[in-house]
Amino acid sequence: MTTKATESVKLKELDLSSIWHPCTQMHDHEANIPLIPIKRAQGVYLYDFDDKAYLDCISSWWVNLFGHCNPYINAKIKEQLESLEHIIFAGFTHKPIIDLSRRLLGLLDSKFGKCFYADNGSSAVEVALKMAFHASVIQGEKKTKFLCLENAYHGETIGALSVGDVGIYTQVYQPLLLQTLKVKAPSKEDFAESLESLEALLESHKGEIVAFVLEPLVQCAGNMNMYSAQFVQEAVKMCQEAGIYVIFDEIAVGFGRTGSLFAYEQCGVVPDFLCLSKGITGGYLPLSVVVTSDAVYRLFYAPYSQHKAFLHSHSYTGNALACACANAVLDIFERENVIAKNAILSNFIWEKLQNLRIFEYVQNLRHRGMIFAFDLVGFEGERKGLEVFNKGLKYGLLLRPLGNTIYLMPPYILTKEQANYIVESLASILKSFAR
Ligand SMILES: *Cc1c(COP(=O)(O)O)cnc(C)c1O
Repeated sequence: MTTKATESVKLKELDLSSIWHPCTQMHDHEANIPLIPIKRAQGVYLYDFDDKAYLDCISSWWVNLFGHCNPYINAKIKEQLESLEHIIFAGFTHKPIIDLSRRLLGLLDSKFGKCFYADNGSSAVEVALKMAFHASVIQGEKKTKFLCLENAYHGETIGALSVGDVGIYTQVYQPLLLQTLKVKAPSKEDFAESLESLEALLESHKGEIVAFVLEPLVQCAGNMNMYSAQFVQEAVKMCQEAGIYVIFDEIAVGFGRTGSLFAYEQCGVVPDFLCLSKGITGGYLPLSVVVTSDAVYRLFYAPYSQHKAFLHSHSYTGNALACACANAVLDIFERENVIAKNAILSNFIWEKLQNLRIFEYVQNLRHRGMIFAFDLVGFEGERKGLEVFNKGLKYGLLLRPLGNTIYLMPPYILTKEQANYIVESLASILKSFAR
C-alpha cells in the first residue's frame, strides 16, 4: 500500500472512531458503502489521497454551482477575510450583506421588499413558517395549520419535517410533529387531482390554514418529482383567493437549477415568502434567506411595547464571509450569462441521456434545467441505487442516488466532455444490470 493510501485508511479509522455522519446508517460503512477521505477538490472534481478523481455529479448535495475552489470565489473570500469575518447581526450591519440584499431584491419580483437571514435551509423554512404564523396572529386570526404537498421535503428540524412527507425522514418523529394538511403530489402531466385535493382542503379547513408551503417545479429529495408550472400557478391562485400565505421553498431549485434564476419565474406567480439557501454561496459556506414583502414586514413594525417584533435569531446570521461568497456568485451570474449557457448544456446532456432508454429498466427519464433523473424499475426491494453509487465510484463518479432514482445535478461549469463521460459510464454501469 502506498503511504498516501495508508494515510487514507488511517483517516477513515479516526473518522469512524469519533464522527457520526449525516443521513447515513453508519453500519453501512462496515461493508456496503466506503468512506472516502478527500484531500482536495478543484472544479468538478474531488481528489482522494491516491489522487483519484471523483466527478461531483450532484454538486456536493446540490450546493455547488461554479466548481470547487473556484478561483474567483476564493479570491473574494480571502479579500473579505482581511477586513471582517463575522459580527453580531442585531444592532450592527456590514456592507457585504447590504450589497447582497439589494442585489437579490433587484433580481426578484418587485413584490419582495425585505430579506431575513438564517444559516441553513431548514432554518429558513422555520423562519418562513413562524413569520407566516406570526403575521396571521398580528392580524387577529386564529389559524394554526399548514398545507404542504405529499412527497415534499423541506428540511430536518421539527417544523420543517412537519411540512415534509418523505417517510424515511419523518416517520419516527411523527408523534412530535405539527399537524399538517397534505395535498396530493402533482406529477408532470397529471395535476387535476392535486388541485381538487387542494380545493377540498381549503374548503374543509376554512379559516384554519396559515400558509401553503411547496417546492416549485421539482420535489428534489422526493425522488426528483418534476411537475407542471401550471399546477403551481393554479394552486397559488387558489391559496391567494382563500387568503392564505404562500411559501416557496427554492432552497434546492433556486439559483438557476430549473433553467431560470428562480423557479417561480416559470410559474407566473409570486409567493409571499421565498426561501433560498444551498446554491446561494456557490457551495462554500452556510447561508440562507427568507425574502418577503414590505406588506408582511409592516405588520410587525410597531412600537416595542406592542410586542410585535419577530425575535427569531441565529448566532451566525448574516455571516460576512458567506455574504462575500454570495456576492461573488451573483457576480458570476451577472458576468457569464450562466442561464443561457446552462440552457445549451442542459439540452446537450438531455440528448446524451436518451442513449439510456435502451435499458428497459430505465424509466421516467426526465429533466428540468440542470436536473436530470430516471428510475430503475423492476428491482423492488433491491438497493440498486447503492450499487450504482458503488460502481460509479469505480468510474470516478460521485453519484448519490435517492433510493433507486438516479439523478444528475452537476455544477454549471461541467464541460461537454465531462457530460459525455458521465453518461457513457452510466451506460456501462446500467449494462451490468441486464439479466
Ligand atoms: C436541502 C433542502 C432543505 C434543507 O436545507 P438544509 O440546509 O439541508 O437544512 C430544505 N428544502 C429543500 C427543498 C431542500 O432541498
